[in-house]
Amino acid sequence: MTTSDSEALAALCQFARLASHADLVMAMEVEDGGRATWAAAAPALPSSSFNLARSGLFEHTWGDDAVDAAGFRLPTAVIHALEGLPARLLYVPAPSHGAPLSGLLLLWRNQPAPVGLTGQMSLLAKSVARLLSARREAARQVIVRNQFLDLFDSVPAGIVLIDGDGVGAAVNEHAAALLGCIAGNHRAADLAGPMRALRQRCDNHTELELAYSAQMNNDQFAATLNWTLGERTLEVDTHPVRGNGAHGRIWLFTDVTADLLMAAELRRLASSDPLTGVPNRRHFEECSAQIIAAREANGRAVAVLMVDVDHFKKINDTYGHPAGDEVLKVVARRCRDALRERDLFARFGGEEFIALLAASAVDEIPAAAERLRHAVAAEPILVGGDRISVSVSVGGAIGEALPGGDQKLLEDLISRADEALYEAKTSGRNQVRMAALQLAPVDL
Ligand code: GH3
Ligand code: MG
Ligand code: MG
Repeated sequence: MTTSDSEALAALCQFARLASHADLVMAMEVEDGGRATWAAAAPALPSSSFNLARSGLFEHTWGDDAVDAAGFRLPTAVIHALEGLPARLLYVPAPSHGAPLSGLLLLWRNQPAPVGLTGQMSLLAKSVARLLSARREAARQVIVRNQFLDLFDSVPAGIVLIDGDGVGAAVNEHAAALLGCIAGNHRAADLAGPMRALRQRCDNHTELELAYSAQMNNDQFAATLNWTLGERTLEVDTHPVRGNGAHGRIWLFTDVTADLLMAAELRRLASSDPLTGVPNRRHFEECSAQIIAAREANGRAVAVLMVDVDHFKKINDTYGHPAGDEVLKVVARRCRDALRERDLFARFGGEEFIALLAASAVDEIPAAAERLRHAVAAEPILVGGDRISVSVSVGGAIGEALPGGDQKLLEDLISRADEALYEAKTSGRNQVRMAALQLAPVDL
């Protein structure tokens, strides 16, 4: 409530007191449950609150005249304020917004009280109701403002709030730390420099400048972009307040570094084989489609190699399952190291692995398969105190990536490589076999 609202309420009470010859007049603000405070009184009193629910004031049907006070139960605070028990009283309702039982309470210490007062007081009561509503609204606004300020400073995000006229701006603690300025109110123009400096420190500042500069004069502009600062990523959202540029603009800076790392780790876990650490079959199928699609563009050969550990069951039976696991890890590592960085290598299941190679010359493929076979067989694998001789059989198939045929091509390559692997097994194991070359006919 503004001072002038307080003074007006006090003046109304004073006026009512003079007009009614009451000993005490109180402007009571009373909520639904009966919780009451006097907003002003004549003579003036320090404010106090109490419950009027059982006073009988609200059940009484008020006429024009003051009535005998003995039938009502008034809080001791009111009696204290009157400096004695009232003989007569009158309640003139002034229902205000949010406090429907509010009204003017007039008390007389001695009889008689003037008659026909309610009519005179009802105009006053209307003004009291208006002032009480204004008082409640002002108090509510103070609460809302405090709630807002608390949120503004305690959310774990940087906030810059630019006024609708574009002149003033508020910066919270988190944003101040990012922008290298102090938290609090600023001229919006003074923040342009620190905002630009932060953007220019970002690895992707060219992309950011492009995105923002195109929107310089658009007060409805809304965007969420990642600002990357080395290892750290800020998700920066900007939008007009409640969709209306005339209400101002919000810049919200959220540090999403941990979220992105977690998402990357989850993706890695979902795409890799927990035993050997190489990609799993699902990841292989997703990535091979991309590799084949990239090949389509320049029409070069792709090849699948199926790699299966020879007599692996015997290794398990001889050295135990945990030793078998160690062998699989080493086989996977040796194969991976024998391939080029850009080749895709995955565990296909059990003791079977798969590689997808993109080749510029077809004869690179059998050579790569041979390197892989040799890498495994060259040295026994040391597990505990045992030197375990391990070999793999390799079946390969080469094909040509053609537009739109990636899924079909992959299935075809896997099936032909599998047949070649079977041949390698039946021809004595520790061998490479390539399926017959099948390239698409060329239109002449
Ligand atoms: P071949 O030379 O014909 O491939 O003979 P093989 O014994 O390698 O083939 P087979 O399919 O008979 O046996 C494969 C074995 O691999 C059976 C299975 O218990 C074992 N195996 C599959 N996955 C794992 C694993 O993760 N760890 C271990 N230790 N053994 C596994
Ligand atoms: Mg095997
Ligand atoms: Mg097998």
